[in-house]
Amino acid sequence: MKLSRQFTLFGSAIFCVVVFSLYLMLDHLQLDRTKNPSSGAGKLFHSGQLTILQEKIDHLERLLAENNEIISNIRDSVLDLSESVKDSKGSPEVGNQSRVGYPELLASPPLVIPIQQEDCHFAAKPYNKPADGVQMLDVYDLLSFDNPDGGVWKQGFDISYNENEWDTEPLQVFVVPHSHNDPGWLKTFDDYYRDQTQHILNNMVVKLHEDERRRMLWSEISYFSKWWDSIDSQKRDAVKSLIERGQLEIATGGWVMPDEANTHYFAMIDQLLEGHQWLERNVGVKPKTGWAVDPFGHSPTMTYLLKQAGMSNMLIQRVHYSVKKHFAIQKTLEFFWRQTWDQDTTTDILCHMMPFYSYDVPHTCGPDPKICCQFDFKRLPGGRISCPWRVPPQTINDGNVKERALMLLDQYRKKSKLFRTHVVLAPLGDDFRYNEASEWDQQFQNYQKLFDYMNSHPELHVKAQFGTISDYFSALRPAAAVDPVSNTSPLLPVVSGDFFTYADRDDHYWSGYFTSRPFYKRLDRVLESHLRAAEILFSLALASVQKANKWNDFPSLENYKLLTEARRNLGLFQHHDAITGTGKDWVVVDYGTRSLVIYNPTEQDRWSVVTVYVNTPRVRLQTASGHAVTAQVSAVWEETTRASREAFQLSFVAQVPALGLTVYRLTEAVELRTVPVDYTFLKQHEELSVDSAEPFRVDIPQDDSLPISIENPLIKIWCSATTGLMERVKYKEGGVEHKVEVGFVWYGTTSNRDKSGAYLFLPDGEAKAYTPNHAPVIRVTKGVVFSEVTTTYQHVTHTLRLYNVQGIEGQSVEISNTVDIRGEFNREIAMRITSDLNSSDRFFTDLNGFQIQPRRTMAKLPLQANFYPMTTMAYIQESGVRLTLLTAQSLGVSSLKSGQLEVIMDRRLMQDDNRGLGQGVQDNKITANLFRLLLEKRSETFKAEESQPEWSYPSLLSHITSMYLNHPVIPMVVSPNYDSLTFAPLSPLRAALPCDVHLVNLRTIQAKEGAGPSHEVALILHRRGFDCEFSNRNMGLLCSTTQGKLPMGKLFSELSVQSVTPASLSLMHTLDGGRSQEEIQLKPMEIRTYRVQLR
Ligand SMILES: [Zn+2]
Repeated sequence: MKLSRQFTLFGSAIFCVVVFSLYLMLDHLQLDRTKNPSSGAGKLFHSGQLTILQEKIDHLERLLAENNEIISNIRDSVLDLSESVKDSKGSPEVGNQSRVGYPELLASPPLVIPIQQEDCHFAAKPYNKPADGVQMLDVYDLLSFDNPDGGVWKQGFDISYNENEWDTEPLQVFVVPHSHNDPGWLKTFDDYYRDQTQHILNNMVVKLHEDERRRMLWSEISYFSKWWDSIDSQKRDAVKSLIERGQLEIATGGWVMPDEANTHYFAMIDQLLEGHQWLERNVGVKPKTGWAVDPFGHSPTMTYLLKQAGMSNMLIQRVHYSVKKHFAIQKTLEFFWRQTWDQDTTTDILCHMMPFYSYDVPHTCGPDPKICCQFDFKRLPGGRISCPWRVPPQTINDGNVKERALMLLDQYRKKSKLFRTHVVLAPLGDDFRYNEASEWDQQFQNYQKLFDYMNSHPELHVKAQFGTISDYFSALRPAAAVDPVSNTSPLLPVVSGDFFTYADRDDHYWSGYFTSRPFYKRLDRVLESHLRAAEILFSLALASVQKANKWNDFPSLENYKLLTEARRNLGLFQHHDAITGTGKDWVVVDYGTRSLVIYNPTEQDRWSVVTVYVNTPRVRLQTASGHAVTAQVSAVWEETTRASREAFQLSFVAQVPALGLTVYRLTEAVELRTVPVDYTFLKQHEELSVDSAEPFRVDIPQDDSLPISIENPLIKIWCSATTGLMERVKYKEGGVEHKVEVGFVWYGTTSNRDKSGAYLFLPDGEAKAYTPNHAPVIRVTKGVVFSEVTTTYQHVTHTLRLYNVQGIEGQSVEISNTVDIRGEFNREIAMRITSDLNSSDRFFTDLNGFQIQPRRTMAKLPLQANFYPMTTMAYIQESGVRLTLLTAQSLGVSSLKSGQLEVIMDRRLMQDDNRGLGQGVQDNKITANLFRLLLEKRSETFKAEESQPEWSYPSLLSHITSMYLNHPVIPMVVSPNYDSLTFAPLSPLRAALPCDVHLVNLRTIQAKEGAGPSHEVALILHRRGFDCEFSNRNMGLLCSTTQGKLPMGKLFSELSVQSVTPASLSLMHTLDGGRSQEEIQLKPMEIRTYRVQLR
């Protein structure tokens, strides 16, 4: 049975999970590995990388083949679901309204959406900032970002102390052994596991049992679970007893340690849930503390998720060296991290920021790496690694213990001077440490001797011991007088904001990785969307078969096993070109009638343009009940001026209910039933010949100097006839017109020794204009469903499109750039949008798709420091107008001049940037990046605080446009074998969710026993914060707001909700006494998880 590509894409949703989790790690790992260059981490990578990559691709291909099987399972789920709903009475047939006939294309939905006034108060109020609170934006204003030599602590300062400072209150030292295990990059996950990780964990069981004073910290559950599966029950019991005794601590407990810049919060939650679900089921432990030593910059989104998952403490490491130094001077390295939108101080989490350069041993015991390295006993003479400061460690014996103990104590004391209590944290570990039994002995025996000496000399006023990170925080909290009820401390400040963009030394800003390998970043987003769709559909299908008692019709166990396997499969794979999310295979209509099932993965009813590929323009499109639907047919351009005669694009506006399915029928017709588009081609100074196909009309005007414009009922845009690029945009209602110029620019790399690479962006000054050698070919398409201008340059094919839809999709300009810089040498290409908005030096970027972080462009910082991660959007504004660029992939963004937004599209770099990767970025692919540009009229009331805003929110329209962009409707062509069945449309929800409530996921929870699903789903909801200062007239929103209230009993149309129990984010803790709730209510910005039983 031959399945269409679209269907394959949908069906491969489960496969997507696999690739997605891969991506999480890839992103973290490929960019991982910066260390003190002398610590030896760089040696982990060597030749043979290409072979490994090839193997990964082969593996991926095999997996794809296997997943064809899953595809049919998913299809069956869809069919079963349709069937079971059709059987039940009163199923609404939404497809028969004929809402999409040509005249109705522009039909106007309700003009004004009901937004409750109360729902607007939140965004207008400042967050709860204490008088002495620290705002990271203020810190950036304050810092000079000079880089003076700080002596032994190069990026810091000399630390001195008074011998008797600890006489009344002794110093309390916790040495925390840890081993950072990256789940595979150039070595695969399995290879790392085989060569290192399994030995670390095996030795851990033996060595921790030898002495109950020993401690160990573990974080990555991907590895831990793989090891767990390989050990017997006796060993498992031994591990459990280590955890019970507090010798082994699982920190964070996520499947991986995710990157915090490019990741979307959906994915961050998913991997945390997967890790925690595994822990709950297998070990019965609930992590209390977050541990993130290696992500390249830190996001408050992660902080919020940890807090919502029930954690009270966390640790971060990679923060700009100037910020670290400032925090060290202020003694604010320990603080309560608060969200910039928090109005009732419930988001605070106690955070420890590591003060020095790295998390390896030379940079953790104190300020002097030359001394600290001597206390990394893996580097004893004769070992494989040594100290680059040329003073080796000494085995501790009676003869030297006094001198060595005092030397180490001096470092501990100096480190303690950077903090406000007498409790000191000294991590003891590195990447893949403790793999050999001898290292356990070296570290634990030598340190124990040092501790014994210190502790037996009361005149030293110190108590030193091994500890876990939670042991440390347990001692810190009383020392800092943290009130256990109010979670506040008179000693520790409150900090708000984020820790981007990271620099580890000099002007080495890690803003390159915000864009590096954009192909994967786009793929990641597509896969996330498909995974989410598959999870939701699976949960609904399962509940439906339970209700209809049709267990035999639905392979729930098999599907769930695959889902689980896929969720867990951890990034052992590279990408594959076949899964680009932009499949170009076409539907074969010559079997007669084919059914087209369209799935809407969003919680809002929507009108969206659907495009499928057909092999003849003579097709007829009807709703399930036989009403004709207007469809536009356009050409598939095989080359810039040559149209395919075998493939055509069929586009129409589909109306699909929230989370629902709509069915259309596609029949081959004798005559032309579709509406062909008209084409105009332009190229300056040159004759053009266009090889078009029937039935399209092509115009090549003699006078090619006239400006180009396209429009829909809401917007008109003008483009240059020379460049094809946008120059002006006009919103028809209110007549708002602005200069919005789109252009492209190049960056090179510096001529200094250190150049741009996978992590670092080190440009050769300001960007240079993109000047093509030849005039571009410009193609203007005008049709009933959409109109567009496509300009083909050598390195980029740029399309501006307007949808003729009255709803959301008609409100913004879609921009797609297909970028190909494979022939370039040390160049990066950026899209620059220059408007007439007076935005000054302010701009706004989102963090993980969850929240908005105000930014300020600073002349005192190098250009590359002014780039920030953009996961879903960035905007600039002036009084009365906001210009938002919404993105369907994470990329680096900046606003270098007033009125500008600039996004790096792709990077090609010929050299390594000395952060351990050992290679440049030369595996560029042709990458299709997708955006929407939204110009919104803002109420003129310009509030005083907005000159220096510390918080900001998107409009509702912006939120929902972003959701449309990231979760497009999914068309599935049903194979002819199923055509005898009549598919019924499906509307699982009784009504769309409130406009500001996002269904993050509806994820079936695993059963307590076996590998199958339970009868419970995790309902994860996010109530978005939104700014009411925007017009809500004529936006096409079909929802209202309800102050975050959701009556659960009235949520589903056919399924009934048996119980709703509030839980912590990752289901680890039951909340509110575990009572089932009839109605749930979310606070603005809140993400909540509920255990729900559906039937
Ligand atoms: Zn790492």
